[in-house]
Amino acid sequence: MSRFWSPFVKDLVPYVPGEQPKLARLVKLNTNENPYGPSPKALAAMAAELNDNLRLYPDPNSDRLKQAVADHYGVSTGQVFVGNGSDEVLAHIFHGLLQHDAPLLFPDISYSFYPVYCGLYGIEYEQVPLDEQFQIRIADYARPNSGIIFPNPNAPTGCLLPLEAIEQLLTAHPDSLVVVDEAYIDFGGDSAISLVSRFDNLLVTQTLSKSRSLAGLRVGLAVGHPDLIEALERIKNSFNSYPLDRAAIAGASAAFDDRAYFDATRQKVIDSREQLTAQLQAKGFEVLPSAANFIFARHPQHDASELAARLREQGVIVRHFKQARIAQFLRITIGTPEMNQALLDALA
Ligand SMILES: *Cc1c(COP(=O)(O)O)cnc(C)c1O
Repeated sequence: MSRFWSPFVKDLVPYVPGEQPKLARLVKLNTNENPYGPSPKALAAMAAELNDNLRLYPDPNSDRLKQAVADHYGVSTGQVFVGNGSDEVLAHIFHGLLQHDAPLLFPDISYSFYPVYCGLYGIEYEQVPLDEQFQIRIADYARPNSGIIFPNPNAPTGCLLPLEAIEQLLTAHPDSLVVVDEAYIDFGGDSAISLVSRFDNLLVTQTLSKSRSLAGLRVGLAVGHPDLIEALERIKNSFNSYPLDRAAIAGASAAFDDRAYFDATRQKVIDSREQLTAQLQAKGFEVLPSAANFIFARHPQHDASELAARLREQGVIVRHFKQARIAQFLRITIGTPEMNQALLDALA
């Protein structure tokens, strides 16, 4: 701290990302990255952008990418916002759409960046407990609020809220903005984007970091009513006119266009998830039902932080949260069959 800090900075509690180790030989199952590389077509599209044109600014509106997203989901480009990772998109949503008088609601166990954004933008919030099976119970959200946000599937549990429940929530709260953070939806659920044309209080966010294997490129998006998108464009154009560079626009667009690669790789992850779930259950783990590219598991006879530490000694890293209710769980990213086998060997 120094005397040059703006006063509010001393009270910020920043997000702590999962470890990105410098050691290449580790089996990395801790930050929900995709074990398969990006689409070769996306890589080629990015390589083609690395030329003399880099002296020019990129398209500030990322029109090509918005069109690719709109085509993929059957919406109009006016319903699409894109940003530098969905974390940035979420930050603009908190800033531009969730600063109101009543509290923002989100589950007690959910993405740990939400309270950080509330701290950054001075937003009051209340955490609504998941039920005993770690599921979101929408009836519990029937209390004064100005907005509701949750990941679907939820993180770090992996549990999916069905589309019908989301529809009920939207109908029950017509004057609340409901933000559905679909970082993991491609691994086992139906996107709520199919509802945006019917509900002006719904905003859906997605990322290319997980199901499209582009965590290193930093591209995320939101889909919703054009009036919601307009607020995000205002924030973005008051903050950074060019959040996506030329390579990101080209690579992300090509990734959306390459449906075959997307479908093949996400299916491999889903198949491995089902296999690893059964293998961990055979070792006595309790595994929550996951619709994501990770599983959340606990073992009745082994302390989770101890397990995580012992796995790390053997070169396998998983995520452990020192947090009430979930301190005995490990969050394990689904890897390739070889990576998953390395985990099982280390556990043995
Ligand atoms: C990974 C993740 C994000 C962030 O994605 P980026 O696009 O990489 O910023 C957002 N929400 C949840 C729930 C996530 O797990």
